[in-house]
Amino acid sequence: DNFIQIKNLKMVYENGYQAISDISFTVKKGELVCLLGPSGCGKTTTLNMVAGLLNPTGGDILVDGKSVLNVAPKDRNIGYVFQNYALYPHMTVLQNVMFPMTVGKNKKSKEEAKQIAERFMRLTHIEEYANQKPGKLSGGQQQRVSIARALVQQPKILLMDEPLSNLDARLRLKIREEIRALVKKVGITTLFVTHDQEEALSIGDKIILFNEGVIQQDAASYEIYLNP
Ligand code: ADP
Ligand code: ADP
Repeated sequence: DNFIQIKNLKMVYENGYQAISDISFTVKKGELVCLLGPSGCGKTTTLNMVAGLLNPTGGDILVDGKSVLNVAPKDRNIGYVFQNYALYPHMTVLQNVMFPMTVGKNKKSKEEAKQIAERFMRLTHIEEYANQKPGKLSGGQQQRVSIARALVQQPKILLMDEPLSNLDARLRLKIREEIRALVKKVGITTLFVTHDQEEALSIGDKIILFNEGVIQQDAASYEIYLNP
């Protein structure tokens, strides 16, 4: 029942820097796994390889038992949420959330795209902002928009890279609860990158602890040992 299998993955950047030495881990279907570690230890590099935005120097990535290394990013069926939301500023919230369904070969009719977008906007509590531009919204609201946009294509995997880092402390706790509840409700397999131990312990089913391009520990959140 391992949905994602990372096998002896390596990444050496063009300048010769080895960001990932040799990592292996597995993720079960529906699991929320945190990649935890200090800045620069290779967490984003790992997400980008899963998304297909970076080609590993070695190793393999299997999803549902099949290697995805030769699958183009747009065909990997992955939702990606970034720290800085990466919303389209000139589009309304509704247009942002609809956008993934209006391009590509699995394009939906405008009516259907709108219905699906509205469903996910209800799930993320942003329906009242449908006709506003993202720049008018608070950080928490913008992150909810980007989460809705990541989910409308019903991706197999959700990747989240420090999604709470730009939010104030109170909102961080709130949105973190919302993300956990949403991920469990939708049942989507999720990789969640953070450098915050407390955040990882509270949101993750399992924690993969990175250090300088290798995995130091891989354990359920309740049994992980962290140095203070
Ligand atoms: P993290 O997400 O854990 O902060 P990253 O995966 O972003 O770490 O980066 C891991 C290491 O790889 C860092 O030392 C970073 O400077 C380096 N790195 C990232 N991108 C590149 C690149 N395009 N070329 C060379 N080195 C890079
Ligand atoms: P909550 O659901 O807890 O209200 P929000 O993401 O809606 O969280 O808002 C976070 C904070 O930003 C709140 O303190 C809210 O008052 C403030 N806020 C909400 N909307 C705006 C806005 N359009 N511009 C500036 N601040 C806002």
